[in-house]
Amino acid sequence: MISIFGVLFMVVFVVMFLGVFLMIFTQFWRMRGMTNKVFTLAEQEMERKLREGPAKGTEATPNSAACTHCGSRVPAQVAQCPNCGAGLQV
Ligand SMILES: [Zn+2]
Repeated sequence: MISIFGVLFMVVFVVMFLGVFLMIFTQFWRMRGMTNKVFTLAEQEMERKLREGPAKGTEATPNSAACTHCGSRVPAQVAQCPNCGAGLQV
């Protein structure tokens, strides 16, 4: 036979469990957002350096790059070549 205290204890336990789970989840989410921001900043810095670097007179248009796999012209912003589908390292 289940007493009212047993039900109460179960409810409190479930609520506590959910609270802890939510806390961990939000912490994880915040951490993921931070790492994403850091990665984006690093990518922008790398792209800026590449653009300012030796490719000054050789590049006809600054906002395009050559695919390392098939050699076709692709926009610098894309992460994947639209021609062959290979991943591009910016
Ligand atoms: Zn390609």
